[in-house]
Amino acid sequence: MAAEEFFRNLPKVTLHDHLDGGLRPATMIEIAAEVGHQLPSTDPDELGRWFHQTASSGSLTAYLTTFEHTIACMQRADDLRRVAREWVADHVADGVVAGEARWAPEQHLQRGLGLDEAVAAVAEGLREGMADAASGGTPFIARQLVTAMRHADRGLEIAELALRHRDTGLVAGFDIAGGEAGNPPSRHLAAFRRLREADFFYTIHSGEEGELASIHDAVQVCGALRLGHGVNIVNDTTRDARGRHRLGRLARFVRDQRIPLEVCPSSNLQTGVATTMAEHPIGTLLWLDFNVTLNCDNRLMSATTLSREYALVSEAFGLSTTQLAQVALAGASALFLDHAERAQLIEQMMPAWLRVSANDRGTSGQPPLWER
Ligand SMILES: [Zn+2]
Repeated sequence: MAAEEFFRNLPKVTLHDHLDGGLRPATMIEIAAEVGHQLPSTDPDELGRWFHQTASSGSLTAYLTTFEHTIACMQRADDLRRVAREWVADHVADGVVAGEARWAPEQHLQRGLGLDEAVAAVAEGLREGMADAASGGTPFIARQLVTAMRHADRGLEIAELALRHRDTGLVAGFDIAGGEAGNPPSRHLAAFRRLREADFFYTIHSGEEGELASIHDAVQVCGALRLGHGVNIVNDTTRDARGRHRLGRLARFVRDQRIPLEVCPSSNLQTGVATTMAEHPIGTLLWLDFNVTLNCDNRLMSATTLSREYALVSEAFGLSTTQLAQVALAGASALFLDHAERAQLIEQMMPAWLRVSANDRGTSGQPPLWER
């Protein structure tokens, strides 16, 4: 689509992108042959289609089963390194300038790797990716978010792992992932407490399939600095007879404290959050001025790119380039980077977005949102 190409030329950042959800089908086929793993297809196009179709069944549980194949191809240090390096390259090709790759080391120990070796391998791959990007004239800032599986019981151990690699392993933060129903964030409260004691950063997958209680638990009990998805916060808003929106206390807290929502529209359509893009909560969340960022979640499973997500949302809600510029800059502001590094990144991103949003002024008469 033409709009996808338009957004590919604009600088974007990705906060919510799983390393094990963005493998190149051709890479998987090569690795699977080496390690003796049976994939659903050995044709790259067909394999890509299989992931997209299988992940589109409408439930998060079914969606998560596809990861068995990607994770099977990420069990050796060299494979983790390669996947991380390609993760950077694929984002660079899509006009992304910074990003955090999240993944759960505890799922990558099936062939004898230790947790620390696995994290070091991903760091090496991200460093190689950044070096490739710099030498190609398109610098990229890559970090990893070390993730624990929420149904398992290794949260504290994984939090300690993240802390061990915060200074040398490009680990910018921590997260919990996996099926949300029945696994509230506070199951891992000890991990979050430990991270706070150590002044470290974390986001929490919450408000994807879970109810408001899950978001309350993530924000108020566990102290999430960002929300992975978080879109169900829309259920704490109502409209009165005159169509005016009313926010509940939790929604007001999340909006007013500017807690970034890592929104992943295509992924949400596949897991049943909404049926069509036009019905996705992101429209209401933007209208109500939540701190919305745009992400892919799993590019392989959703057959998508970040540029495509911008294009889809833009088309579904008739958003101006100015509004999407605000989303892109909100993403940059929410990265778990040093303040100075973020400020520099925003400064670098601004001119390109200002150039294209200058056209918005003529049609809408509205100045860019950050000037209001
Ligand atoms: Zn996710």
